[in-house]
Amino acid sequence: MKILIVEDEKKVASFIKRGLEDDGYQVTVSHDGADGLKRALNGDFNLIILDNMLPKKDGVTVARELRESGNQVPVLMLTAKDTTEDIVSGLDAGSDDYLTKPFAFAELQARVRALIRRGEQDRGAEIRFADLRMDPVNHKVWRGQTEIVLTAKEYTLLAFMVRNANTVLSRANIADNVWEYPFETFTNIIDVYINYLRKKVDGKFPTKLIHTVRGQGYILKEG
Ligand code: CA
Repeated sequence: MKILIVEDEKKVASFIKRGLEDDGYQVTVSHDGADGLKRALNGDFNLIILDNMLPKKDGVTVARELRESGNQVPVLMLTAKDTTEDIVSGLDAGSDDYLTKPFAFAELQARVRALIRRGEQDRGAEIRFADLRMDPVNHKVWRGQTEIVLTAKEYTLLAFMVRNANTVLSRANIADNVWEYPFETFTNIIDVYINYLRKKVDGKFPTKLIHTVRGQGYILKEG
């Protein structure tokens, strides 16, 4: 995973670089907007961390020109001010998320992971678990060689479970992430969808992947 940091404050840049390198990322640093844009366009990065206040070209302009050129790399914007205006102009220009300085490194790590994951999904990297394969571009699903036809919502639910495999997922957690808002009264709808998935994904296969954890929720695991 390759990350480009465009940040003119050398102390901040090297602090972020060291931390992300410890997490196993390959990190490149650029200290001005014009150079950063050039590197972003020429390198195959998984994420750009882009400061807004930069010499030669500001972050908003860099983000806009990157998008205008058709480049869809995820961009995390760093802003010194958290005025709505600054944030909105960054997001309008094409950045995917923002972080206000000063920030805790753990917060940066969480944003980086989320953006890289989202970028991978958009790039169409296949999602796999056991003999289950999911193609995020065409929303197709297979177990081994057998194609499984799912509705859009079933697909979203299964993808969420696969990304969180071997973890117990409460109904509230599933509602938050799959239905995208908390919906406590929605729990029986989740049970209904889980049953649909069970029939389709596990039905005729000897190895069951979807399991109920009594009183807690559901888990995707082998056997
Ligand atoms: Ca700066």
